[in-house]
Amino acid sequence: MTTAPPPYSALLEILKTYFPSPVSDPIMDGYFVHTVSGFLDRIDALKSAAPMLGRTREADYGAHHDLVMPEAMTSVEAITALLADYCRGMTVWAHPNAQANVIPPPTIPSITAYIAAALYNPNLIWDEYSAGFAEAEIEAVAMLASLLGYNPAQAGGVFTFGGTGTILYGLKVALERLTGGRAMTEGVRRDYKVLASDSSHYARLNVTGWLGLGSNNLVTVPTTPHNEISLPHLEATLRDLFDRGETVMAIVLTMGTTDAFGIDDLAAIAALRDRLVAEYRLPFAPHLHADAVIGWPWLVFRDYDFILNPLGFQTRTLRSLKDSLERIAPLHLADSVGIDFHKTGYTPYVSSLFLTRHRADFGLLSRDQAQMPYLYQFGHYRPGLFTLECSRSGAGALAALANLKLLGKEGYRVILGHTVEMSEILRERLETLDCAVVLNDYNLGPVTLFRVYPEGVDAAAAYERETNDPTYRTELQRHTAYNRRVFDWTHAQAMKGEGVLLSWTDAYRHTADAEAPIAALKSFVMSPWTDRQAMDTVVRQVLEARRRIAADDQV
Ligand SMILES: *Cc1c(COP(=O)(O)O)cnc(C)c1O
Repeated sequence: MTTAPPPYSALLEILKTYFPSPVSDPIMDGYFVHTVSGFLDRIDALKSAAPMLGRTREADYGAHHDLVMPEAMTSVEAITALLADYCRGMTVWAHPNAQANVIPPPTIPSITAYIAAALYNPNLIWDEYSAGFAEAEIEAVAMLASLLGYNPAQAGGVFTFGGTGTILYGLKVALERLTGGRAMTEGVRRDYKVLASDSSHYARLNVTGWLGLGSNNLVTVPTTPHNEISLPHLEATLRDLFDRGETVMAIVLTMGTTDAFGIDDLAAIAALRDRLVAEYRLPFAPHLHADAVIGWPWLVFRDYDFILNPLGFQTRTLRSLKDSLERIAPLHLADSVGIDFHKTGYTPYVSSLFLTRHRADFGLLSRDQAQMPYLYQFGHYRPGLFTLECSRSGAGALAALANLKLLGKEGYRVILGHTVEMSEILRERLETLDCAVVLNDYNLGPVTLFRVYPEGVDAAAAYERETNDPTYRTELQRHTAYNRRVFDWTHAQAMKGEGVLLSWTDAYRHTADAEAPIAALKSFVMSPWTDRQAMDTVVRQVLEARRRIAADDQV
C-alpha cells in the first residue's frame, strides 16, 4: 500500500530550489550562477561617477518598529532583488574617488574564498568540520610567522573576530601567562595594569573591560606629536608602577594608528622592558602585544631594493616606505601580534589573525589541559579546544591565504607603494598651499590628515597656537567649524559624482594640555584605482570649498 505524500511535500520541492544542488546538476547549477549574475547586474545598474551605489537613502529606522516575520515563502528572485536593494548607498571602496577610511576593496580571489566558505560552511573548531580550511589557517599562520621573523617551529595563531579579537587574545594570553593559567578558573583576583598609548585604538577599553581586568587598570601613556608612545612618559609610568609594587601585565603597542599611521618604537620599548625587568628583578616580564592590524604588510618591503628601486617609486615614497619599514621590522620582538587582512590586506570583513611567538601558550587557554590542543603532527587540528569562539568561520583564513598567494610580496609592494605614492602627492600639493597644514606630517603611510584655514589666517602659525596655546581655544573651535563646512561641501560634491569622498575625524589628537580635541579632514587612499587626477581633485575641491564659504559669508 502506498501512502499519499504529505501536504508539505509540494512546498518542500520548491524549497529545495532555494539551495545549491548537493549533487552535480547542470540545470540547478546554472540556476545558481544565473542568480548570482542577476544580482551582479542589479548592482551594476546602481554604479555611477560617484563612489557610491545608487543614492544614499536617509534610513527611517523608526518605520521598521512594527515589522513582523512574513507568513509565506517567497522566491529566490524576489530576495535577490531585495539583497541588491540593501546594497544601495554603499561606498564603492575600489572607486578612485573613495578615500574615506582604512576599508579596502577586496580582491576577486578573497571574495571567492568567502563564496567557498559560504557554500561549504567550514567550521574551524576542528579539522573534521573544516578540512582544507584548517590547512589554510595553518598555512597562513606559517607565512605570517615567517614574514615577521618568528620561529615557525614555535609560533602559532588563529583567525578571530576582528582586530579587537586579536587584542583580546593577546591580553588573555598575557593574563594566563602571568597567573600560570589560574585566571581561567579562579578569575581575575587582583589589579593587573595594562599600558597603551593615547593614540591606540579604543579596543583597549573593550578588551580590559570584557576580560574583567577593568578598564580602570588601563594606563594611558601620552603620545609625541608624531602619534607614537612617548618613551620618557612610558618609562616614568612603568617606574612609578613598579615603585608602588603594581603588576604590569602587558604593554599594547600600536604599529600604525588608525587615524594617523603613528608607529610605536617597539625595539626601544622591548629594550626598556628588559632593562626594567632586570633592574626591578620582576618575576614577570610585561607581555608585549603589538597591534599591527594596519601596519603589518609593510614588512614586505624588507626584501625591497631601496637603492635600485625596481618599482620606480618617487623619492618621497621611498623615504616613507623605508621609514615605516624600519619601525615595523622589529615586530618579531613582540610576544604576540594582531593582523587584519580586512584592512591593508584587501580581503572582505572579517579576516583577522592573532599570532603568538609560542603556540604552547594556547595550552594555557585550553579547557582540557590534558589534551594538547596543538598536536596537529598527529593528524588532528582542534583549535576549538582553546579558542574563545565555538563556531569559527573558515572564510577569513581562506581569504587571507588567497591574497597572500595571489599578491605575494610583490603585489603587496605594488598596492601599498601606490597608496603611499598617491598620498605623498597629496601631501606635496598641500605643503605648497599657504592655507593648509598637514597634521600627521611625520607619519607615513596612506593617510593624510589636514586642516585648512580661511583667507587672512597664517595656517602654520594658527595650527601651532591651536595645539599649544590654551588662550587660543575660541579660534581653535572656530577653525574646526570652518573645516567642517569645507568637509560638508566636499562630501556633497562627492555624492554628486563631482569630487573625492574624504572623511572627518573629530579628534585626530588633543591639544598639548589634553583639554581639547583637534578635528581634521582625512584622506585614506586604499584603492589601486586612485590616481594623480584623484589627488588633484582633493586639492581643487578643498580650494573651491574655501571660495564658496568666503562668498557665502560675504552676503
Ligand atoms: C581597526 C583597528 C582595530 C580594531 O580592529 P577591528 O578589526 O575593527 O576590530 C584595532 N587597532 C587598530 C590600530 C585599528 O586600526
